[in-house]
Amino acid sequence: MKTLTIIVPCYNEEAVITESYRRTKQVIQQLPNQTEIIYINDGSQDNTRLLLNEIAAQDPQVKVLHFSRNFGHQPAVTAGIHHCTTDLAIIIDADMQDPPELIPDLLELQEQEQANVVYCVRKSRDGESFFKLLSAKLFYRVMNSMSEVSFPLDTGDFRLIDRKVMDEFDRLKERGKYIRGLISWLGFKQVPFYYEREARIAGETKYPLSKMFKFASNALLYFSKKPLKLAMSMGFTAVVVGIILAIWFILGKIYGFTNADSGWTSIIIAVIFFGGVQLITVGVLGQYIGILFDEIKARPEYVIEEKKGIEELKELRSQVERFV
Ligand code: UDP
Ligand code: MG
Repeated sequence: MKTLTIIVPCYNEEAVITESYRRTKQVIQQLPNQTEIIYINDGSQDNTRLLLNEIAAQDPQVKVLHFSRNFGHQPAVTAGIHHCTTDLAIIIDADMQDPPELIPDLLELQEQEQANVVYCVRKSRDGESFFKLLSAKLFYRVMNSMSEVSFPLDTGDFRLIDRKVMDEFDRLKERGKYIRGLISWLGFKQVPFYYEREARIAGETKYPLSKMFKFASNALLYFSKKPLKLAMSMGFTAVVVGIILAIWFILGKIYGFTNADSGWTSIIIAVIFFGGVQLITVGVLGQYIGILFDEIKARPEYVIEEKKGIEELKELRSQVERFV
C-alpha cells in the first residue's frame, strides 16, 4: 500500500487551522494508506504557529515547517514537496476550499489510471468575488495562449503527485516556481479530476490583488517569451505607423490636403505614442532582466526557522544513495 503525505501551506490561518486539521484527520483515519500531514507555516503573524505546534505535539502523523518569514504560497508548497518522503503527495489549501473529503477519490483515480499526477479541475467556484472569478478565468486562458507548454484550464495546485514527479520536481533549480505550470511541464501521465470548489470556511483570502498580480506576472515571465516578441511587434507597428504618417504629411504638404503646420495635436500624439511604445518595450525587457537578476543571485526559495516532527529522512536517504 502506497504511503501518502498531505501538504498544506498556511499563512495567517488561525481561523481555519483547527477545523482544517479535524476534517483532514477524519479523512485520513479512514484510509488504508500510511499517511502524514506536513503543514508549512509561511511566516504567519497570528496564532497559526502556536496552533500548529499544539497539533504536532499531540499527533505523530503531523509535521510542521516554520518559515523564518512570509515567502509566499509557491515556496511553501515547494518546501512541502522537498520534505516529502512518501510515495504520493496531495497538495491542498488550508482553508478547505479544496475539500479533503475528496482525497480517497483522488487516490482511487490514481490507482485506477496508474497516473503520475491527478490534477483537480474546478467545475465551479463558490464564495469568490466576481473580479476573482473573471481574472482567474482570463489568466488561465491568457497563460495558455502565451505559454510554450499547454496547461489544463481552471486548475490550481490542488492535486496528487507521485514519487517520480516529486523526484523530478526536486531537480528543478529555478527560484520563481509556478508549480502548477512546472508539474504540467514535467509530463508523465496526468489525469483530470473534476470538483466543485467551495467557499473558504473562515478568514479572508491571503491572495490580495498585489500577490495575485505578482503570481500571474511570474507565471507569464517564467513560462513565455511572448511578451518580448509582442514588444518587438509593437516596435515594428510603431515604425510602420511612423512611416505612413510621414508620407501622409509630406504628400499632404505638397498637394495641400493636410494643414500640418497647425497640427499641434498630431505632433503630441506621435510623441506620446512612440514614447509609450519605447517605455513598454524597455519595461518588458526590464522584467526579464529582473528575473535573471533574481535567478543569478541563487538565493534559496525559503528559509526554515524550525522543524517539528521531521527527521532528516530525505537527506539521509540521498546520502545513502550516494554511497550505494
Ligand atoms: N498561502 C501561503 N502564503 C501566502 C499566501 C497564501 O502559504 O503568502 C496559503 C494560504 O494559507 C492557503 C493557500 O495558500 O492555504 C491559498 O491561499 P488563499 O486561500 O488565501 O488563496 P485563494 O484561495 O483566495 O486564492
Ligand atoms: Mg483559498
